[in-house]
Amino acid sequence: MVDTQPETVRCLILGGGPAGYTAGIYAARAGLQPVLYTGPQPGGQLMLTTDVENFPGYPEGVQGPTMMEDLRKQAERMGCQIRMGTATQVDFSGPPHRVIIDGRHTIVADVVIIATGASPRKLNVPGEEELNGRGVSYCAVCDGFFFRGETVAVVGGGDSACEEALYLSNICKEVHMLVRRDQMRASKIMQDRVKKKSNIIIHWNVLVDAILGKDEVEAVRVRHRHSGTLEELPVKAVFIAIGHIPNTEIFRGWLDMDEQGYILTKDCSTRTNIPGVFAAGDVQDKIYRQAVTAAASGCMAALDAERYLQAVEAAQTPEPAS
Ligand code: NDP
Repeated sequence: MVDTQPETVRCLILGGGPAGYTAGIYAARAGLQPVLYTGPQPGGQLMLTTDVENFPGYPEGVQGPTMMEDLRKQAERMGCQIRMGTATQVDFSGPPHRVIIDGRHTIVADVVIIATGASPRKLNVPGEEELNGRGVSYCAVCDGFFFRGETVAVVGGGDSACEEALYLSNICKEVHMLVRRDQMRASKIMQDRVKKKSNIIIHWNVLVDAILGKDEVEAVRVRHRHSGTLEELPVKAVFIAIGHIPNTEIFRGWLDMDEQGYILTKDCSTRTNIPGVFAAGDVQDKIYRQAVTAAASGCMAALDAERYLQAVEAAQTPEPAS
């Protein structure tokens, strides 16, 4: 049941990844007294990664979860209120805009910054849903430990799949990497690292047909694209790393999106089609999708929100009599 007493805030930020926390730092420093809801996965996708080697300022690299903890603390120290909770419904007919958190708490906000990120894409094959958490995983760092010394599979040919395969190759006996084309999308450096590992076996031109097992994963069945033949690889786990889909379902009907559901922003800014609603990070970026670009667009969203509020307030202030 939605509570009767809505809470009024100036700046509401949805999402606790690099975009959300950076927006929080900038909005707090601008005096917007931001309230940030972390969503279902505080810290975002970086909580699922190990070494981040490409975020500027960390010459030795940094662990993803450590960086997110530091960002959270920094946002909090600047005065951003950070709360657990997930937006479940929105009404952007304002401004002000209304957002319902966890189905019950209504926030009325002058500006909303959406930084809800993206979630792992599913394969949608038999066995994936049934064996999720019992050998099917979307995060090697979270679940790899349970399969140490075993033979496992990684699906995908992007940087994420390479990262997962490399991580698993250090703790598992063998890693079957299942790539659907005759080449990988991953950066050359990641591909080279994967190819150098003697216990990573790359299978080219294979599609996952099914994940097999009764109570836990026992094998993955692949279809060879050119011959059409099926092959079963005995594995204890299947790690799926085939990209992401933006978390924008609740904004459908309000915000302009592309065909994949990424929020469209205007003129190289973070402005959406609704005044007072801004989008930052992976929720609006299907090209770069880096921690550093997400953080940068969080900064842009806070600056855009601040300027928008200044313009609204200036328009409401009566001209002094001459
Ligand atoms: P990508 O979109 O880059 O790659 C997805 C991969 O999954 C592709 O190889 C794609 O194949 C494959 N794929 C998609 N659907 C299926 C399917 N149904 N069955 C089998 N394979 C499938 O996603 P990532 O998550 O890897 O990377 C996202 C972004 O994050 C990229 O920009 C990447 O560079 C970055 N990143 C950087 C890292 C780093 O620098 N350390 C680490 C991780 C990510 P196909 O190529 O045929 O479409």
